[in-house]
Amino acid sequence: MDELQKPRMKLEIPMAGSRGWKGIVWHHSASPDGNTRDWDGIVKYHTSYRIDFDIVSQGDFERRLQNHQGKVFQKPWKAVGYNGGTELIGGVPAFFWGRPINMIGAHAGVESVSNLFNTDYLGFCCIGNYDKESPIPDLWDFNLQLTRTFMDAFHITKENVIGHREVFDRLGVPRQKSCPGNCWNMDLFRAEL
Ligand SMILES: [Zn+2]
Repeated sequence: MDELQKPRMKLEIPMAGSRGWKGIVWHHSASPDGNTRDWDGIVKYHTSYRIDFDIVSQGDFERRLQNHQGKVFQKPWKAVGYNGGTELIGGVPAFFWGRPINMIGAHAGVESVSNLFNTDYLGFCCIGNYDKESPIPDLWDFNLQLTRTFMDAFHITKENVIGHREVFDRLGVPRQKSCPGNCWNMDLFRAEL
């Protein structure tokens, strides 16, 4: 297919005030994609008090923090970490906006190494667990269309479309994640952009 004919998504991107994004990092949720809208659960998770990756009440959070009951304590973020998410709803791919694109991201920081992929790269999350299988063709194509649309808007090159696990490669540190899943072939994804 001719480069120019590859499908894009019709999307109103609020360019005014946006950061000048240089790349895109894809993630998966590593959780099942149900038949209904799962995106709201991701948003709720990131904007809640969490201890050891479970949502807790503010009261529990403060009490357990004081008593050192838990390892990882996270306060609610200002917004979901990703700029948007994709998933199947009744078998039909859908996109939802997340963190505003005028804010620094919270999806691909590598603690005490670099925050570059939060400040310079958009983050999208495809709901599902792609350690088990690749996204089905409709969702794969939808993610390609979404990516192309943002590449056009921000003049992003294919080389700067990466999977979360490749963030570690770029920084020259061992991979801490398989995200967006071992069955999501990023070389193939880039080749199809
Ligand atoms: Zn990730």
